[in-house]
Amino acid sequence: MRTVYVNGEYLLENEAKVSIFDRGFLMADGVYEVTSVLDGKLIDFAGHAKRLERSLNALDMPHPAVLPDLLGVHRELVRLNAVEEGMIYLQITRGAPDDRDFVFPDPETTMPTVVLFTQNKPDLANSPAAKKGIKVISIKDQRWARRDIKTVQLLFPSMGKMMAKAAGVDDAWMVEDGAVTEGTSNNAYIVKDNTIITRHLGSEILHGITRAAVLRFAKEAQMKVEERCFTIAEAQAADEAFITSASTFVMPVVEIDGEAIGVGEPGAVVTRLREIYLEESRKAAV
Ligand code: PMP
Repeated sequence: MRTVYVNGEYLLENEAKVSIFDRGFLMADGVYEVTSVLDGKLIDFAGHAKRLERSLNALDMPHPAVLPDLLGVHRELVRLNAVEEGMIYLQITRGAPDDRDFVFPDPETTMPTVVLFTQNKPDLANSPAAKKGIKVISIKDQRWARRDIKTVQLLFPSMGKMMAKAAGVDDAWMVEDGAVTEGTSNNAYIVKDNTIITRHLGSEILHGITRAAVLRFAKEAQMKVEERCFTIAEAQAADEAFITSASTFVMPVVEIDGEAIGVGEPGAVVTRLREIYLEESRKAAV
């Protein structure tokens, strides 16, 4: 049984409790981060901590007292649960006032709720899916407009995954005004004539921590990068396609809406990017 963290305490998962009045539960009034663990160490922790603070500020959410010590809490959970490879999920909500109300509770009396737990995934880096690539469908993006804030409002992405599952594929790319925004839980890319193309940052997508690292490594390796919109038709005509996220790293996409991308197998650019990302991230892990 896992040991989890709730509001300053390390507890067994079946002893951890949160109020029914918690605004995360009642209103999805919460933010989260997922950080990967490789070799028992945290990948890109500083990036996740920085984005968490940005999400809190964007929602006017009080900073919990534990914020400066989050690295310590992450490390302690990795130790207590002997995680070699996997993820740490962190969620902060606006807390639990003593009743339901649309108005934000007084931050002097209602403290944020902080929850962390670990997920063991022994095949995270050596993923079978990364060797053969994943298939996606396109769906209409029906999320709210502030996708740059990493909130726990994941109902539409969850429905998107179910649409993909019903279509017999692995994931969905969301489309708005004719252009791909992102995957249900990842950023989306195509490669054409050795140029990596991914949507520019804005409130339409989450500013992926893996995205930032991968684009940095790509530029360092002298690869060309274009941050702009692209369509599903352009993606289907691309040489390669892929996604990035903290839990999939760099993952090839080999089919979009039934059309094979390139030869229908992971290509050279995505394979190289995955190698570089894993190598560099392991070196920088804390
Ligand atoms: N976009 C969305 C909608 C996501 O949910 C995620 C993963 N949380 C990402 C992109 C990838 O972000 P990151 O690389 O920081 O995991």
